[in-house]
Amino acid sequence: MDALPIFLKLRDTPALVVGGGSVAERKIDLLIRAGAKVTVVAPEIGSKVEALLNQQKLHWIEDRFEPAHLSQALIAIAATDNEDVNRSVSEAARQQNLPVNVVDQPDLCTFTVPSIVDRSPVIIAIGTGGASPVLARMLKARLETLIPAAYGRLAGIAREFRDQVKAALGSVDSRRGFWEKVFQGQVAELVFAGKENQARAELRAMIQATEDAEFEKGEVYLVGAGPGDPDLLTFRALRLMQRADVVLYDRLVAPAIVDLVRRDADRIFVGKEKSNHVVPQPEINELLLSLAQEGKRVLRLKGGDPFIFGRGGEEIEDLVRHNIPFQVIPGITAAAGCASYAGIPLTHRDHAQSCLFVTGHLKDGSVDLNWDALCQPGQTVVVYMGLTGLESICREMIRHGLKDTTPAALIQQGTTLNQRVIAATLDSLPDAVAAANVRAPTLLVVGSVVTLHDKLSWFDPDGGPPDDLALNEPGRGANDGL
Ligand code: SAH
Repeated sequence: MDALPIFLKLRDTPALVVGGGSVAERKIDLLIRAGAKVTVVAPEIGSKVEALLNQQKLHWIEDRFEPAHLSQALIAIAATDNEDVNRSVSEAARQQNLPVNVVDQPDLCTFTVPSIVDRSPVIIAIGTGGASPVLARMLKARLETLIPAAYGRLAGIAREFRDQVKAALGSVDSRRGFWEKVFQGQVAELVFAGKENQARAELRAMIQATEDAEFEKGEVYLVGAGPGDPDLLTFRALRLMQRADVVLYDRLVAPAIVDLVRRDADRIFVGKEKSNHVVPQPEINELLLSLAQEGKRVLRLKGGDPFIFGRGGEEIEDLVRHNIPFQVIPGITAAAGCASYAGIPLTHRDHAQSCLFVTGHLKDGSVDLNWDALCQPGQTVVVYMGLTGLESICREMIRHGLKDTTPAALIQQGTTLNQRVIAATLDSLPDAVAAANVRAPTLLVVGSVVTLHDKLSWFDPDGGPPDDLALNEPGRGANDGL
């Protein structure tokens, strides 16, 4: 983070704006909206600033800027079209330790003014650190359409009841539960429908009916985080990620996704490495149970889909036994994500009428699969956790009847900026992979659909920084599965 976003209270605070033209006008307007006592220094002022002057909304010093003008101010903005003047305002303000903004010259600023979505008292600020104001404005436009104007009124009502709710509900957790019910339920609907008095009545009734315990029930969300690209999360996944008190995640969940979890949720890494399970499975199951029993909303975040080679079933069995409520949120499984991003349709009328997902996990050094079922014509086989056993998998498939020229591809870190596709044949793939310095996780796809990759490939990243994507370690040779 290059800058810390904060909300500055400026009511009745002296603020100095240097410049009185159209650029200054917008900043003056913002400062006045925030309640600041604005003084404008400029030899001349434009008509709009003059109008504000006539309405006694600002004070005008009809002069060129001098450092002495800053003596009363607690914040300064330079908005002239003269770079020298802007620079001298910036220097003088910094000497006096005053926060200063110079319009369109980020290097002269100690703070920048974000794009703003104003649903007061809800205010959303969007900044790009000066990198692209246009992008900030585009994001603003999107948010403007996404967030109903009534959110401001809803927040206003929440403010009215804040103290009452605090008095009625003892713990922070129970209050959070209460407010979530307010914002996601009937009260919000009433406000959106313009029935604010009814909304207030409903809120009052909720406060009366409140029993702390009602809002303190623990719950587990077993959520599929998809194969890597955060854009592939579901809306529901994201919503529950925002509600969780604590998150348990493992190494298949990209850091960019963990970053989307509610900021003050506790994060517990239960990652697994080959033969070095950081937290063994029974302990993960126990942890889920005990955290939920403490009344927490527990997010179990899993790579891909929780019910596809994800042990999701095992993790919720204990919960069922102990009557802990839970939800399972599907995710895009690696096969679907990697296939799409590699331009390899898993089924295709000309190539494959069925598709099998299997695990290539090694047991006692060999892969134990129903090879005859795998080696059928007109079928695509997707092998999860198949990197370590790759050579033996390809060999067995040829031995059980597939031609050695059968197309096969290994997809590394699919859907992320480090995606690579090594397309070859059953015969040549192991050598091609050995030469390619592949990084886990990887997925193996076997079948003639792989030939479509050349024609349909569309996602061709030129590599992200290694730790940006980090479907963390381990490297080639490690068993890349669970
Ligand atoms: N529940 C997960 C699978 C967990 S098993 C899902 O539905 O996708 C772990 C295996 O998934 C890895 O060994 C690898 O074969 C595969 N995998 C997961 N993410 C992947 C990715 N981004 N690219 C390639 N393979 C991936």
